[in-house]
This record gives sequence, C-alpha cells and structure tokens, in this order.
Amino acid sequence: MNGSAVAVACTLIVFYLKHYQRKPHRQTGISRMNNKPIKIKRRDFLRDGLRTISTLFIGGIVALTTTRLRAKNTVWQLDPNKCVQCERCSTECVLTLSAVKCVHAFDVCGYCKLCGGYHRPGSKKQDTAAENQLCPTGAIKRTYVENPYYEYTITEEKCTGCGKCVKGCSSFGNGSLFLQVRHDRCLNCNECSIAKGCPSEAYQRVPVDKPYILKGKQGQA
Ligand code: SF4
Ligand code: SF4
Ligand code: SF4
Repeated sequence: MNGSAVAVACTLIVFYLKHYQRKPHRQTGISRMNNKPIKIKRRDFLRDGLRTISTLFIGGIVALTTTRLRAKNTVWQLDPNKCVQCERCSTECVLTLSAVKCVHAFDVCGYCKLCGGYHRPGSKKQDTAAENQLCPTGAIKRTYVENPYYEYTITEEKCTGCGKCVKGCSSFGNGSLFLQVRHDRCLNCNECSIAKGCPSEAYQRVPVDKPYILKGKQGQA
C-alpha cells in the first residue's frame, strides 16, 4: 500500500470512529461516548465532514509529495551480499531485457583458467566453445592474458541478469561477479517489480548520488 492509500485509510478510520462514538444508540438514544443523550446537529455533521475531506486532501498531497521526493532523491539497487541468485532479476523487471546486469570486480577476480562463472560445471574442455559456456547468451568474453591467466568481461547488451555466472563464481571462485541494477537502463519505478518478488529482500532504495553497491576496492571507495 502506498503513502496516499495509508493516509486515506487512516483518515476514514478516524472519521468512522469519531461518528460511531458520538452517534446515539438506535433504541436508547444514549451516546456511546459518555452515556448522555445527545442530538447530532446537521450543521455539526457537515462541518466535521468538510474537515475530514480537507484532512484527506492535505494528507493525500503530503503523501504524494513525499513519494515523489523519495523517488527523485533515491534509486533502486540490490545488495549483492544478500542476493541468492534466484534468477528473478532476469524475469521480473518491467523491461523486456532486464535493467539488472552482471558486473565484474576485477580486483577480486583470480583470472582463473577454469572459471566457475564462465565454464559450465562438468564441461569436457575449459575452452571458449559454446557448449562449455555457462552463460546462456554468450555475454561473457574470455581473453587470454598470460599462462595460466584469463580475463573475463561482460557484454551488457547480451546480459539478461540471470545470475548463473554469479552463482558459479561464488560457489567455485572468488565471488568477483555480481548483479547490479544499471541506472542507464532502469526506469526507477515507484514500486520495483523485482524488489516485490526478491526472496532475500536484497532490494533497497539508495541515494541517487551513490547508486551502486559494489564489491572490491570500488565498493570501499
Ligand atoms: S531477485 Fe533478489 S535474490 Fe533473486 S537474483 Fe535478484 S537480487 Fe538476487
Ligand atoms: S550468466 Fe546471466 S548474469 Fe551472467 S553474464 Fe550471462 S546473462 Fe548475464
Ligand atoms: S525499478 Fe523498474 S526498471 Fe528498474 S529494475 Fe526494477 S522493475 Fe526494472
């Protein structure tokens, strides 16, 4: 429920309780508030009604402004330390190609020849053949550095944010691959549809001037 709905619901409850307490019992004519007979004047009812409508209106405006300010000053980001790579980041985003992408902290990477994020478990050869790659879209590029080291870079245009490589790297490597919401793609929805379904509550709003939760040296800066 958003802020406006909460304000409206609260005001309606207060209005109902106020009038329920003041309203005389149907058979006895006794007020429920102080056991004295009362007579509610039409003028009083109208005055209270107008007050309630004004309160609702002002409450709605305040809630709307707060929501807009929050959306303007903050953006959605996922905490890679909480993410369990459930794959929903690739399927729940409102965009056809998710705004979530794999990011590489190179200073954490071991530049391994056998990479848990790049190679499919049990692959016969540790080469670049498609059947040996873990990434379903071929979004990870492998480049030879020097024996026995290889560098792995992500082609974001191909990445769906499925997190398969992240899981592989976290299970068998240093955990240098992780997911992040890319803000050049994200629409900063009021309610992020991935956040709603995230099983590990990894999503949060972060300040717009610090929009990433990174790993390695970049994360400590
Ligand atoms: S929905 Fe949450 S747990 Fe699942 S991949 Fe995204 S951030 Fe990770
Ligand atoms: S395995 Fe998934 S998250 Fe990793 S690079 Fe490929 S598409 Fe992106
Ligand atoms: S805020 Fe919207 S566009 Fe951004 S990641 Fe969430 S669902 Fe996708």
